[in-house]
Amino acid sequence: MRFLTANREIPKDDGALPFFHRDVRNLYVKMKIMHAMNDAMELLQYCKVAKDENTKVQFTYTLNDERKLENVFWSPSPCINWYKKYVEAIVVDITYRVNTYNMPFVIFVGVNNHGKMVLFGCALLRNKTCKTFLWLMKTFLILMKKPPKTILMDQDPWMAEAILKELPLIKHAFYIWHITSKFSGWFTAILRNKYSSWCANFYKLYKLAPVYTYEEFEDQWPQVIIKYNLHESKHANGLFQIRHFWVPSYLRGYFFVQGLGNFNLFSKSSRGLLVPSVSSYLLSVSQLTKDLNCDVVFSSKKVTFMGSISRKKIEIKQGSSLRTLSPLEKQSYDILTPYSFKMFQDEFGRVTQYVLIEDNCEVLMQYYKENSQNQKVLWDVETITCSCKHFEFWGMLCRDILIMFLHKDCYIIPSIYSPLR
Ligand SMILES: [Zn+2]
Repeated sequence: MRFLTANREIPKDDGALPFFHRDVRNLYVKMKIMHAMNDAMELLQYCKVAKDENTKVQFTYTLNDERKLENVFWSPSPCINWYKKYVEAIVVDITYRVNTYNMPFVIFVGVNNHGKMVLFGCALLRNKTCKTFLWLMKTFLILMKKPPKTILMDQDPWMAEAILKELPLIKHAFYIWHITSKFSGWFTAILRNKYSSWCANFYKLYKLAPVYTYEEFEDQWPQVIIKYNLHESKHANGLFQIRHFWVPSYLRGYFFVQGLGNFNLFSKSSRGLLVPSVSSYLLSVSQLTKDLNCDVVFSSKKVTFMGSISRKKIEIKQGSSLRTLSPLEKQSYDILTPYSFKMFQDEFGRVTQYVLIEDNCEVLMQYYKENSQNQKVLWDVETITCSCKHFEFWGMLCRDILIMFLHKDCYIIPSIYSPLR
């Protein structure tokens, strides 16, 4: 094609070429359409063969009025089992695109109890309309059987509407990476040499947010806006308007598994996936499944390890072994994966840094250094809650509740607080 383009000026009458440039272009377009049809057939054939070989494979598709492939969703064989285990919180990323056919590529992922990403399913869509997303979410629910509790995703009005209609009871939040990835386009021209400082301030406020109440966040946000003179910025104002969807202080009552916030499979520059054909695309998805689930053999809650890597080696690698004689630590050691146990130890190791202050029916946990946030812990024998909502948010007990267990001579973690991961 390049050769013919280079020779486009050669007139047909000269006898140098027996056709015009437009003849070649027409042929190219015709072949491209034929190739696309073959690719669509190849994709459906691949899914049907996979389903015949393993009934756990899930897939479905829609055809347009011309009976051409429109949308397709599929979940490879191990994914349905992983979804059953780690259904609570998922990421739906709709920001990828298969360049060859200019089709949005959607992936559904979660985090296993080793902190590793697991793939639940993926889809190729014709477009990003509300109708298409409604089909996608309805299909996902039908095939995967159970709804998640929380969905983390990009800020997309049509997707938000589809989630609201198909999954009205779940918590929908925005992924912070998708928000901050737009910052350079939004703020560089306005802030110029103050841009880096603004980003640092934003992240500082965002990272502090978990220990702040949302009232404190709302107090501090205007101060940052004043500092950078962003009153007139529609993006800064928009961020504040949608604060309930991205500021952790507003989300602490909902379950977002640890590690979900680290989701970023591809670099920003490779968000448009260059895939020459569906077969190579399927190969990419297959590799993606392997990459995301490389540690899946260790995903049992009972920690029944398979393969050649022993728990001992993983513990050495992750630095998780018993540090105290506390029955609470031993119990956690027995039921948690090394990854989760390491997180438990991080919290348990800090219990000695706090002072417990009883004030009538309220108990406050105060850090030994001054000027720190106190957490309120409530215990009514049956249940125990902490104002930091670490358990509700991450599924792991916080240091405040662990201090309360020790204070009340509770040496067995109640079953309702068995870690969710
Ligand atoms: Zn707490």
